[in-house]
Amino acid sequence: MKLITELVIANRILANEDVVDAYGHVSVRNPEAPGRFFLAHSKSPALIERGDILEFNLDAEPVRSDPRPLYLERFIHAAIFEARPDVMAVVHAHAEDVLPFSITQARLRPVIHSGAFIGAEVPVWDIAERFGDRTNLLVTNLDQGRDLARTLAEHNVALMRGHGFAAAARSLIDVVRMSVYLPRNARVQHKAMQLGELKPLSSGEIQARAAGPGYKPQSPETQRAWQYWAQRAGCADLLNSVLST
Ligand code: MN
Repeated sequence: MKLITELVIANRILANEDVVDAYGHVSVRNPEAPGRFFLAHSKSPALIERGDILEFNLDAEPVRSDPRPLYLERFIHAAIFEARPDVMAVVHAHAEDVLPFSITQARLRPVIHSGAFIGAEVPVWDIAERFGDRTNLLVTNLDQGRDLARTLAEHNVALMRGHGFAAAARSLIDVVRMSVYLPRNARVQHKAMQLGELKPLSSGEIQARAAGPGYKPQSPETQRAWQYWAQRAGCADLLNSVLST
């Protein structure tokens, strides 16, 4: 299946662009069975190959039992796919540059044109609000995943206090692009705040970049970034195998 190869490429891109490191993960919904999604077993994204990808149901259980260890935080993906039928792909990562915005009053906002994809508002989820101050901050069950999904609501990204972020989009390419530009936007915003008053994008500017009715994930502009990142991540062979099918 072409989608599995694309998910492998997405893993490698996110690792190569420093969005994920040893931890963090990306998933994609099965378009032929919307109650299921694909996600690797517990392995670092840079090392993932086609054989590492498993299929899960919306309880975050593998459809076919597998002896390999699973990501502890796979519930993030299950709960977002459950709550958001429009979402086709999810990323969870710990990118450092977004973390200051999860532990202070400063709100992360789109401030550069490529950051517009994150949307006008980026809510912050605090696990302690509902689950107390003795969790290890990780989303290790469906209850916690659903609570996070409620905070995400209709937004594209939610920050997770002192931990990382969850991003959701209408395609794998979109969620990768948004996750690559999210820490970059955070970096620019942080620097700008040290220089003076911030001028974020206007709602009209954000809207102009958002996925409108005529939006196509396979547009040449989006493909251009995907091919560039894939090449940089050493995935030229995988990319060619997808393009030739
Ligand atoms: Mn995590």
